[in-house]
Amino acid sequence: MTFGRQPSTLTLLSTYRCTAACENCCFASHPGIEERLSLTDMLNAIDQAAALGSISLVVFSGGECFMLEEELIIAVARCTERRLASRCVSNGYWATSIKAAHDRLDPLRRAGLRELNLSTGDHHQKYVPVERIAFGAAAGIALGMHVVVVVERELDRNFRSQTLLSHPALAAIRDHPNLTVFDSPWMPMEDRASVKHGAGTLANRSNLHRRPGCDSVLDTMVVNPRGEVGACCGLTREQIPEMKIGSLSDMTLAEMAGSAGHDFLKIWLSVEGPEHILAWAATKDPRIDWEDLYNHHCDACRAIYQDPRVRAVLARHWHERRDDILSRYRLAHDRTRPVVPEETTAVISI
Ligand code: SF4
Ligand code: SF4
Repeated sequence: MTFGRQPSTLTLLSTYRCTAACENCCFASHPGIEERLSLTDMLNAIDQAAALGSISLVVFSGGECFMLEEELIIAVARCTERRLASRCVSNGYWATSIKAAHDRLDPLRRAGLRELNLSTGDHHQKYVPVERIAFGAAAGIALGMHVVVVVERELDRNFRSQTLLSHPALAAIRDHPNLTVFDSPWMPMEDRASVKHGAGTLANRSNLHRRPGCDSVLDTMVVNPRGEVGACCGLTREQIPEMKIGSLSDMTLAEMAGSAGHDFLKIWLSVEGPEHILAWAATKDPRIDWEDLYNHHCDACRAIYQDPRVRAVLARHWHERRDDILSRYRLAHDRTRPVVPEETTAVISI
């Protein structure tokens, strides 16, 4: 039996192959990667997502989903047939001109695609010139799509959202209601010193109240190129074994959603977010170092699962927070069933 949050989104990371090889890419993507999800598996996952009933959106990301070529169009069309909205996330490498961008997007629009997300910033621009983001965005808007451009944010950066919006190709549409441009923190994947953020942007006890619960965990089901399914679309998900909830080869999405929904730590992440869990764990073991370390919440989340001191506190004390967290979870996501604490599973093993 399931309770609480039901997934609203399926994200297909059909390939980690990419035309670029950005430093600190969350999946270490690069052009030489061959492994990928087959078209059959993609269509099967879309069909299962539609059957779940709660999922309304399928996101195609990667790696670079446009490298799937014709298969991307077929998969988008299947979403449309199943009455699921679709979104493609891309680095825009294909938008070499307005016409080239139009020619690439139009078959996807006719298959039902209505949302295009483009990524750019200092790291991306070593591989994809910013003109292509401007051309891709302009062509998407002209085709009636909603276009979101996400710009890397870190302390020492040259490129900013305003720089993109001043590009001539965007002059006529910079205030268009279907165009959104915003900054998102770039985060270190291996070497913490490789990405710097301003001191005021790092989580600590003075700004903890501004850190929300995670809106991805238990809401987004992610399928990676190996057919493994994750419980969130976080940047550090592949580095957290506990976020893997099954595999397309031996479980259905419905079974995986059901079992993940009983994992107390995922529920806790949803209700309070990783920074609050770290702060609470530090009240039990003051040796836990968390303040002024993390900008991105997935960075803080990785620390929860990788720091043995945090794991030890959670394993010993999680039940002290159980009733409080489950009550708040039910208020947010499920008022139709009473909370049954025994239905949640132990938080973490050490
Ligand atoms: S464009 Fe995106 S997926 Fe490709 S290497 Fe850069 S960050 Fe990774
Ligand atoms: S904070 Fe944790 S649970 Fe949420 S998206 Fe990031 S890695 Fe996933």
